[in-house]
Amino acid sequence: MADTAPVIDYENLRKANEPFFDEYRRSFDALLESGWFILGGAVKRFEEEFARFNGSRHCIGVANGLDALILCLRALKFERGSEVIVPSNTYIATILSILQNDLVPVLVEPDIRTYNIDPAKVADAVTPRTRAVMVVHLYGKSCDMDPIMAAARTHGLAVIEDCAQSHGAMYKGKMTGTFGYGAFSFYPTKNLGCLGDGGAVTTDDDGFARSVRMLRNYGSEKKYYNEVVGYNSRLDEAQAGFLSVKLRHLDAITAHKRRLAQLYHDGLKDDFVKPAVHPDFFDVYHIYNVRHPKRDELKEHLLKNGIKTDIHYPVPPHRQKAMEGVLDGREFPISAEIHATTLSLPISYCHTEADVRRVIEVMNRF
Ligand SMILES: *Cc1c(COP(=O)(O)O)cnc(C)c1O
Repeated sequence: MADTAPVIDYENLRKANEPFFDEYRRSFDALLESGWFILGGAVKRFEEEFARFNGSRHCIGVANGLDALILCLRALKFERGSEVIVPSNTYIATILSILQNDLVPVLVEPDIRTYNIDPAKVADAVTPRTRAVMVVHLYGKSCDMDPIMAAARTHGLAVIEDCAQSHGAMYKGKMTGTFGYGAFSFYPTKNLGCLGDGGAVTTDDDGFARSVRMLRNYGSEKKYYNEVVGYNSRLDEAQAGFLSVKLRHLDAITAHKRRLAQLYHDGLKDDFVKPAVHPDFFDVYHIYNVRHPKRDELKEHLLKNGIKTDIHYPVPPHRQKAMEGVLDGREFPISAEIHATTLSLPISYCHTEADVRRVIEVMNRF
């Protein structure tokens, strides 16, 4: 069987996008005909649509997810050297956005059951210099927001949410990206992915929205009049058009991923640590991971049977070469444990239930 069964990719972006090709082509044709490529009708339309989808007053399209995080911090104008609390278990972009603003990342360990920042440890990390907590809704599961918002209120901290993996994920019926300032990525592999780079900031705060809107476009609201020192970080018209197409299908994409996750949940034997499930959390499964002490052997066993997997992530941020001399060299054992044992299974829009049944069958033979 190992020789004859077709290979199951971890992700296949051609296949995952194929159902939308006709709509993408119409959107691209409209772009060519319009002759307007930067900050025009398509960006404005997508911003309104995504704000409505997310239940936010404002959505500001930017160039990518990292810039969304950078501009959120920039708009908050913290004093140089202020501290920002951030999970030790995240993609490095979250931490880079803090460093790019000359702020100090203070890493806090995750809860090993949810992989997200441990709310009980947030308050312990607060010092007189702490100005914000940047949470990451990793793998498409919201953080435990009630205690985090309570700690933020107690200590007067701004809350920034890294929603790069959590489009449509909810906590107690409330969308991620509506608790604090939301920073989204539309990188092609994300649940709401475009056909290049893209990102957005969401907020209910009019003044903050205005700041981010200026910062993304040379600090300018009115052409050739520059009010603040800004950047060039605009979502372009082509990507905005593709995103409007994809957004119409996001609920179907999420439902598909949740169905596949349910198959894994019910079908995988208990030797694997599966993602926590709780009624307060509506998870969108950007990633479906399991943990196993023999992760590398498991990955090899799946590969031998034609099943490709991925690891999110093989090296934790605090052990990256780029962080030598930048972070203080502390160890983060929970984060390290997750990175050493986690394996991400196929769960894309391109996968069928039959694909997932085969992954389960091969997994359970391990
Ligand atoms: C993808 C990702 C980002 C960065 O998004 P880009 O659009 O690639 O800049 C930031 N944070 C997390 C958690 C991500 O997964």
